[in-house]
Amino acid sequence: MKEVAILGAGYAGLRTLRELQKQSDLHITLVDRNDYHYEATDLHEVASGNQPKEKIIYPIKDVVNSKTTTFIQDEVKKIDPDQQVVDLKNNQPLHYDYLVVALGFETETFGISGATENALEMVDVQTAEKVYAHIQAMMKKYKETQDKKYLRLVVCGAGFTGIELVGALHEGKERYAKIAGVDPAEIEIYCIEAMSSILPMFNDKLTQYCLDYLNKWGVHLLTSSPIKAIKPEKVVYGTDDWEEELEAGTVIWTTGVSGSHVVGDSGFSEKRGRVMVSDDLTDPDHDNIYIIGDVSAVMDKESNRPYPTTGQISLQMGDHAAKNIQHQVKDESTEPFTFKSLGSVASIGNTHAFGYVGSTAVQGYPASFMKKMIMNRSLLKTGGLKEVMAKGRFDLYH
Ligand code: NAD
Repeated sequence: MKEVAILGAGYAGLRTLRELQKQSDLHITLVDRNDYHYEATDLHEVASGNQPKEKIIYPIKDVVNSKTTTFIQDEVKKIDPDQQVVDLKNNQPLHYDYLVVALGFETETFGISGATENALEMVDVQTAEKVYAHIQAMMKKYKETQDKKYLRLVVCGAGFTGIELVGALHEGKERYAKIAGVDPAEIEIYCIEAMSSILPMFNDKLTQYCLDYLNKWGVHLLTSSPIKAIKPEKVVYGTDDWEEELEAGTVIWTTGVSGSHVVGDSGFSEKRGRVMVSDDLTDPDHDNIYIIGDVSAVMDKESNRPYPTTGQISLQMGDHAAKNIQHQVKDESTEPFTFKSLGSVASIGNTHAFGYVGSTAVQGYPASFMKKMIMNRSLLKTGGLKEVMAKGRFDLYH
């Protein structure tokens, strides 16, 4: 019986598992450091304290079919593609015939001084919970000191993640203000962005829709303001000609992501933790290794740049890797991957969103509704009906 190892139970890994389990003549081993899957696209909800972590996670065992699959909760240290083994922190090395590397993303600091030490990251459930705990602590600190910097929250980078976080923080303001004993209007939210405009993938009307909300909410959006350093409770930004410092108790780093460091540590040819894969999603040097999700780069032939890493492309890659492994097991040739974009929608707050569904621009409540429905559909396909009933987004009239 062929052995398939899947590393990572995020969108890409879990979808591969779900599809491969339909085939009974394989044994699958799934490895993840956690015993739960989390919806990475909802981390801002936990970081802002608007949702408890239970709302965005579900147990991996709910997806694992014990007849075909063994789940190992452990940390992946390194892959040896020549020996076909995976080194784990606490278990024996794992042998495979086919490997699916779906180890996800990490914070990218671009070497900015102090970012790792002095800013909070938001890359998994633990770090998201840490952000909320920190915000609460800062609000208490304000009560003790009356120093306004503790009422200030700074989001570094106005990409998708940064903007969605800003919206969630705005919705959390009332709760934070109560802890600090101030009016919600006194909680200041800053978002500092290097580029002169935000979200360049959207048309001007959609970007303006987002800007109008930020403006209405009193969010301080600073564009053309590259961050140069993070000092304790201080963000330093500017160019060669000017420099400013902003004091803040809470500084959250969302300036982009890279793929898992395990990819580089294992000697794969990578850039920022991403491997430029072959058309069928395998590593160019190893046709029994699929590299998918945030550790993978697939060229968009239209823009001549790799597709951005998203939950959506990860799910499609998971489906495709499973299909190709089934082909290989049957000695059939693999199929090339093509990404079918369903669009991309960014939420700002619980009931507002903007973006594209297919190629149609949408904004406001309908966009938010579409986003929730797309997420429920993906939850159904990967987690199953039980998870949709428990975790689905139906709170549309909130
Ligand atoms: P990103 O790379 O899309 O955005 C990071 C932002 O930070 C950019 O605007 C960049 O100019 C800015 N930045 C970088 N260095 C900076 C500096 N020193 N100072 C100030 N600003 C700086 O990263 P992300 O937002 O984390 O998103 C990662 C990926 O996940 C993207 O591909 C995104 O499309 C995807 N994503 C999608 C959704 C969604 O579909 N709703 C939600 C979240 C993330």
